[in-house]
Amino acid sequence: MTKRVVVTGGAGFIGSHLCKLLLDQGHEVLCVDNFFTGSRANILPLLNHDNFELLRHDVTFPLYVEADEIYNLACPASPVHYQFDPVQTVKTSVMGAINMLGLAKRLRVPILQASTSEVYGDPHVHPQQESYWGNVNPVGPRSCYDEGKRCAETLFFDYHRQHKLNIKVVRIFNTYGPHMHPADGRVVSNFIVQALKGEDITVYGTGSQTRSFCYVDDLVDAMMRMMATGPEVTGPINTGNPHEFTIRQLADLVIELTGSRSRVVYRDVPVDDPKQRRPDITQARAVLDWQPTVQLRDGLARTIEYFDGVLGTGRGFAAD
Ligand code: NAD
Ligand code: UDP
Ligand code: UDP
Repeated sequence: MTKRVVVTGGAGFIGSHLCKLLLDQGHEVLCVDNFFTGSRANILPLLNHDNFELLRHDVTFPLYVEADEIYNLACPASPVHYQFDPVQTVKTSVMGAINMLGLAKRLRVPILQASTSEVYGDPHVHPQQESYWGNVNPVGPRSCYDEGKRCAETLFFDYHRQHKLNIKVVRIFNTYGPHMHPADGRVVSNFIVQALKGEDITVYGTGSQTRSFCYVDDLVDAMMRMMATGPEVTGPINTGNPHEFTIRQLADLVIELTGSRSRVVYRDVPVDDPKQRRPDITQARAVLDWQPTVQLRDGLARTIEYFDGVLGTGRGFAAD
């Protein structure tokens, strides 16, 4: 059945892949984005699609449209970007959630929230299960994002309890792939861009901190499976790849796959940088019948190919 789907943050990294897949499945997509970190380039191939509509709009303001489903992804996700205007980050998370929940309430349609592993902060429990309440600094430089996303989760569950809304909350762990912004500041894009340009690869701290990286196609599959569940499934559900790597291992892998002569240099570790992160995806396996299929090596190769095309670094990879 064809649905009319609202995707906020649809011109961003994950949102643009979600919009494309929804169109491929025959749905109508209304992409809502203020282009803070997203770009027209990400959705350029979709602009001529009959079922695609683009609305430049900031979700901190009310939005009156018609839809059958809402995916709420609008929010800068990289520390560099969400710390650029922290007040706007909180507004986007909190007021954006209120407005999109108000929209879902008026239309009585399901709404999915792109939450984050950052709700676990610098975790004392490893790997992280959904039942863990987290270890988040409420007043640090990361708090605008972490606490904004935590408050958005609270709002989702309050609208569910109070207004019987059909909510879906996924806690997304570090995701990577084509359409990441080259100046996004996140580790995968930084390392690839640095390696392709032959610049120093900047490892923050000793590089012993860990992350678990999920390829974007796997992630979008999980989000769509979540949306397709019945109203009894609210989450929160961890969506991410449970294979854990140190940042130093990631640097070595990027150097190997690009054949780069870049050297690794060590820089100060950012304030409140989580030391370890790995999702427990038992729930996603059971409820969504989902687990990631793309190995880091393969996903990185595809992402390197994409960045090589965007940057024109001409390492002999085919452009995306
Ligand atoms: P992104 O920065 O590429 O995309 C975010 C999009 O939201 C951009 O297109 C941006 O322009 C738009 N946006 C920002 N503020 C807005 C506003 N006020 N009104 C309308 N649009 C606005 O980031 P992404 O990696 O694609 O992340 C998408 C979502 O997934 C975010 O909510 C993020 O918190 C969440 N998430 C991402 C990751 C990850 O590893 N990429 C991990 C956890 C959670
Ligand atoms: N809202 C919106 N689109 C809608 C319906 C509501 O943007 O289609 C906004 C509205 O501006 C409000 C918010 O969502 O501020 C929350 O809506 P809700 O109905 O929960 O609250 P109320 O309008 O009763 O304050
Ligand atoms: N990181 C790094 N070099 C970089 C960018 C990031 O070593 O150029 C580290 C960062 O300190 C963190 C990890 O890589 O420990 C992941 O950072 P990212 O910003 O990608 O995501 P998040 O910290 O939000 O998980």
